[in-house]
Amino acid sequence: MMAWQDNVRNVVPYEPGEQPECKNIIKLNTNENPYPPTDKVKNAIKNFDTDTLRLYPNPKAADLVRALADYYQVEEEEVFVGVGSDDVIGMAFLTFFNSNKPILFPDITYSFYSVWADLYQIPYERPPLDDNFKLVKEDYYKENGGIIIPNPNAPTAVYENLSVIEDIISHNRDVVVIIDEAYIDFAGKSSGELISKYDNLLVVQTYSKSRSMAGIRIGYAMGNKQLIHYLNAVKNSYNSYTMNRTAITAGVASLQDKEYFEFMIDKVIHTRERIKKELSQLGFTFTDSQANFIFASHRKVLAKDIFEALRKEEIYVRYFDSKRIDNYLRISIGTDQEMDLFIKALKQYLNM
Ligand SMILES: *Cc1c(COP(=O)(O)O)cnc(C)c1O
Repeated sequence: MMAWQDNVRNVVPYEPGEQPECKNIIKLNTNENPYPPTDKVKNAIKNFDTDTLRLYPNPKAADLVRALADYYQVEEEEVFVGVGSDDVIGMAFLTFFNSNKPILFPDITYSFYSVWADLYQIPYERPPLDDNFKLVKEDYYKENGGIIIPNPNAPTAVYENLSVIEDIISHNRDVVVIIDEAYIDFAGKSSGELISKYDNLLVVQTYSKSRSMAGIRIGYAMGNKQLIHYLNAVKNSYNSYTMNRTAITAGVASLQDKEYFEFMIDKVIHTRERIKKELSQLGFTFTDSQANFIFASHRKVLAKDIFEALRKEEIYVRYFDSKRIDNYLRISIGTDQEMDLFIKALKQYLNM
């Protein structure tokens, strides 16, 4: 042990799903979109004036903020952008979860929440989901230092009706409630419509899943102007230029093609519903997924064994070796062709 190690902020980092370099694999392990972004993004990047890269970007990413405000019919001062929603949520933890009381999030949820809490030394409690992986809203009535809930939840894919979300927000007017809507475009109503009613609500979304742009790194938050003001103040105390010029340009272009966006979301949802039927014929049970992935468990065969068998066939799904979910697979929705190969490999392995 070196003496300086006493002063290290020693953390256990978040572990993202594997990104194998090999091209021929079927990659259903990180909930990326199997379809490309709109051609408007392709053209915007093709026509991008690289001479402008010598200049710093606009520190407010004003063009992107304006485009998002127009898209969602909110004020520009109600929008914050960051380098993926991970950056936005990390910044929100640093900004809003500054109490000695524990913050609350479900026991089964996005595993980055506890990592940020540890990083910033924020105490936390994890009220258990019920046996159907649904929220128990009364668990969020107790005193706390803030709340974060993903809707739909990951990795369970379970969507909660807005009435449940609103009930939790309205019982917690003295703390900030963050709703992480990474998968909302594949699900029901967004809590975005509640931001004018609740000044303590921050809604976070991302380009990574529904907009097919995980590689560009754009996330955003919507909330009351005062919340956004505090977020910007913390961001500007850490790094003024989070959003680069290419990301701003591509992010604006993506919003200009609603037709393609809706077409592609419908396609993913259609495949998801088809694969649910196939999986149930193969003896799987699963939650009523409202995301671009299915969280499934086999009645007879262990998830870990299926995970390893698929991996041998170069089909990657996600397996979490943690309490309550260690017999589940999280399967991202790929193209129809990819999903057919996935089902074929399952049939072979299960002798069906
Ligand atoms: C994928 C994901 C994110 C992070 O996405 P970014 O790529 O950083 O935008 C955040 N929350 C949940 C629940 C996710 O699944």
